[in-house]
Amino acid sequence: MKTKNVFILIFLFSFLTSFAQKSSLAYIVKMNNPEWHFFHVQLSCMGIKKDFIDFKMPVWTPGYYQKMDYGKNLERLKAIDEAGHELKYEKTDDNTWRVFSKNSNAINLTYEIKTIRSFVATPYVDETRGYVLPAGVFLYIDKMINHPVQITLVLDEKWNRVATGLDSISGKKFTYTAPDFDILYDSPLLAGNLEELPSFKIRGITHRFIGYKLGDFDREQFILDLKKVVEAAVNIIGHIPYKNYTFIGIGPGQGGIEHLNNTTFGFNGSNFKTRENYIRALHFLAHEYFHHYNVKRIRPIELGPFDYDKGSRTKMLWVSEGLSVYYEYMVVNRAGITTDAELFNAFRGNMMAFENKPGRLYQTLEQASYETWSDGPFGRTGDEVNKTISYYDKGPAVGLLFDFKIRQLTNNKKSLDDVMRFLYKEYYQKMKRGFTEEELKNAFEIVAGSSLAEEYEYVTTTKEPDYPKYFSYAGLNIDTITQVSPAAYAGFTLREREDSVFIANVEYESPGWNAGIRKGQQAVKINGEKASVNLLNKIISASKAGDKINLTLFIHNESKDVEIVLGKKTEKTFKITPVSNPDPLQKQILEGWLKG
Ligand SMILES: [Zn+2]
Repeated sequence: MKTKNVFILIFLFSFLTSFAQKSSLAYIVKMNNPEWHFFHVQLSCMGIKKDFIDFKMPVWTPGYYQKMDYGKNLERLKAIDEAGHELKYEKTDDNTWRVFSKNSNAINLTYEIKTIRSFVATPYVDETRGYVLPAGVFLYIDKMINHPVQITLVLDEKWNRVATGLDSISGKKFTYTAPDFDILYDSPLLAGNLEELPSFKIRGITHRFIGYKLGDFDREQFILDLKKVVEAAVNIIGHIPYKNYTFIGIGPGQGGIEHLNNTTFGFNGSNFKTRENYIRALHFLAHEYFHHYNVKRIRPIELGPFDYDKGSRTKMLWVSEGLSVYYEYMVVNRAGITTDAELFNAFRGNMMAFENKPGRLYQTLEQASYETWSDGPFGRTGDEVNKTISYYDKGPAVGLLFDFKIRQLTNNKKSLDDVMRFLYKEYYQKMKRGFTEEELKNAFEIVAGSSLAEEYEYVTTTKEPDYPKYFSYAGLNIDTITQVSPAAYAGFTLREREDSVFIANVEYESPGWNAGIRKGQQAVKINGEKASVNLLNKIISASKAGDKINLTLFIHNESKDVEIVLGKKTEKTFKITPVSNPDPLQKQILEGWLKG
């Protein structure tokens, strides 16, 4: 290349960058009349001169692997040029609005976002708070996802604050910046009369907990425990990649979504009255927190850059989600909060859920990861329950098998923690990208120093896990013997709604299932008497296996009599207990695993 050309290129480059710097995107979100459940959005675009601009709404939000079609809630779009003339636009598909901007230097867009459901993956506003889930509120410009953006929230006058992981602009009230739309979509904003609990520092970095309607609980104890949880998670990877971290409780409800420097989740401290609920909440927060490593930074190659148009599918959610369940238990245990018995029980719960789901014979962990977009996050329910599994259940169980195997192969010198650290250093820190399936498998084998082909079959096939073999490496027994319970068993439950009674749940291949009973059917009579939950319980507890009960169902406007031959329930308990005389390596592995 000749010098002259280089100069021309440098000139062109600086011209283009200075041109690019002139463009700006600034949003204002107004929350007036929140009882109408609308966000009023204004976007001012400066310096983007084009014949037309395609504005797009993501169809999903990373972390929640379901198509949400946020664009369907966008209403009353209006585009105006710098002279105040209205610009024409057309919708070119479900989530694209093409505005014929005719080379205007300034365009103002206004629209409304209708909000329907208060949920962690949907925007929502009412009289009490506004939850701005960015993927459902902010349009991006096609092919300009990397453009910086400014956000200003105008709160309902009765509200006092905003919680978000975004950087704020000092001197400007409730105004924030994001370097690009990936960061914007990763940073929800919660507005309202929020409560902030005392912040804490880990390795000099501030962690905050802010929320709406936090409930009635011991705040001091909770923050002490949360701090220990965060510390235990940080100790696994050994590095904190963010400048600050915010836990954002969006109010009572289910679900949580992880982000790079924050997490948003349903939270109700009033539920902490039982230890079980408290531990569940800490597990859940540990899960969302650990995700800032596992999935946000230690990630499958497909999960970044995100495809906001189609969704980003990967076969490795069993790592991102399944192993985050694994680590939620480990982190809370290593934080010194749960007992070892509680830790075993947590794993046992997942094993029982997985082993009792017939889908285990049909779907692999990889398939469950890939198919979650159509199956739903917990596998299918209803009649199709027998075809799918949940990586939230099999994932942590397989994580355990890998961990014990690596420890056994390396004389307890290495563990699953080393695999996570390897992935973090190699792909996030050095290569700044995600890993492929092959690279993931290699990472496991590099750490183990040996082939893990046998264990990998638990990921790629439906081979039944040999739990006792792996648990024995850590000097643990696990009861996988099928137990037969003496009581009569029907395998279905009822639910009463107003005057009617419905089938609530039917266990696969139970006597009820085999008689053709399915969830949602209306039950009218049991043995000739008016059906009720109490009557069913009374009849079953007075019966023995082999007895028959008659159920009158009402299906498609006709009554139908079904005879059920009661059976006996069989179950594997997966009870985990330490062996009485562990050898030195077994002892070391168990201690190493529990202490980290
Ligand atoms: Zn998760």
